Amino acid sequence: MTGTKIESIRSALIVGGGIGGMAAAINLARSGVAVDLIDLDPDWRVYGAGITITGPTLRAYRHLGLIDRIKAEGAVTNASRVRLFDGTVLRVLEEPAIEEGLPATGGIMRPVLHRIMQDEVRAQNISVRLGLTVTALETSGDAVDAKFSNDTTGRYDLVIGADSVNSAVRDLAFPHMGMPEPTGQGCWRISIRKPPEQDMGEFYFGAESPCGITICGADAVYLFLLTRHVEGERFMDDAELFEGMKSHLAPFGGNAGWIRDNMSRENWINYRPLAAVCQPKPWYNGRIVLLGDAVHATTPHLASGAGMAVESGIVLAEELARANDVASALLAYQERRFDRCKDVIDSSVAIGNLQLEHGRPDQIAGLIEGALMRLNAPY
Ligand SMILES: Cc1cc2nc3c(=O)[nH]c(=O)nc-3n(C[C@H](O)[C@H](O)[C@H](O)COP(=O)(O)OP(=O)(O)OC[C@H]3O[C@@H](n4cnc5c(N)ncnc54)[C@H](O)[C@@H]3O)c2cc1C
Repeated sequence: MTGTKIESIRSALIVGGGIGGMAAAINLARSGVAVDLIDLDPDWRVYGAGITITGPTLRAYRHLGLIDRIKAEGAVTNASRVRLFDGTVLRVLEEPAIEEGLPATGGIMRPVLHRIMQDEVRAQNISVRLGLTVTALETSGDAVDAKFSNDTTGRYDLVIGADSVNSAVRDLAFPHMGMPEPTGQGCWRISIRKPPEQDMGEFYFGAESPCGITICGADAVYLFLLTRHVEGERFMDDAELFEGMKSHLAPFGGNAGWIRDNMSRENWINYRPLAAVCQPKPWYNGRIVLLGDAVHATTPHLASGAGMAVESGIVLAEELARANDVASALLAYQERRFDRCKDVIDSSVAIGNLQLEHGRPDQIAGLIEGALMRLNAPY
């Protein structure tokens, strides 16, 4: 891209320096927009989980020019193994790449992915201010006036809310939207060294709780496990998380069993109740627009939330570069993103519901495969 056609977009404020916010920042900065990126976290950290990066997510990262570092610092593969919960191997899925030269799927530790994106943000000389949020947004003519939590102000041609599920931008400018809906499931995750026999990603079926393992680097994996959410299980201390994870893994064999037997209190363990929503249109209000979990929050069933956030950042910058006016660009962005994100969210919630209802494994596999196939289409 060689610059936005819309003369009036010279500056943009991005609220939220996570996966979607950084993707948008990198693309807009390359288009010649002066980007001001702010994040609430004074240390600009991300928690210690691994993340699965599917083919479409890898395609989006290739578009961002970051695929080589992701391949080098994460792990990529062209196959996954499906096991019964006791470890019995059911089949090995050969996964075709969706584009020439692109790995089929992969994983990376979130802090590593964050650092790769942060390095590119810095390489683009994007202004980054931390420990900051917006407290007021007011549109006046062709600009948006922002008030910040440190009592300073700024005037921008465009404001992007990429501040995740509890979005402050959404609260300030999108009264027709609400919080994501709980789905009734929760996700347990543990980051740990690679089991000696682990040579590809794995999924385990047939137990009360489905689980999977993704390789995230030379000696790093994370295991995720989905359970029915029990009220009161939201806030657990380290000992409860450790015992809870171990007991949920009790029936498992294979590498999941190895992780249960070798996990220690030093490992990063987390539990999070799941919630999702595809927010109703419009996704923009004048010159304020939302992307990522702020507007299309999903559950991990298709491992596609981050991919959707990166794609949204790319599409927003593309439409701003293509259109003749801001309203047409933001409408085009919304229309390119809405159905695709809604499909991911609806399919993910449907898979979770089937798991809660003890649906047949072939029915669940069919939903997953169908949704992933549709996601392979260009965005
Ligand atoms: C349990 C679980 C597992 C998942 N696993 C996967 C997976 O394997 N693969 C996958 O693709 N996706 C996965 N996802 C989804 C993925 O993590 C998200 O969709 C993705 O991170 C969304 O990116 P984002 O930029 O919208 O938000 P985030 O990456 O969360 O970034 C938001 C940023 O905004 C900042 N912020 C928050 N509030 C404010 C504020 N008021 N002001 C300023 N800044 C603020 C935060 O500090 C943060 O830096 C998973 C989600 C869950 C819940």
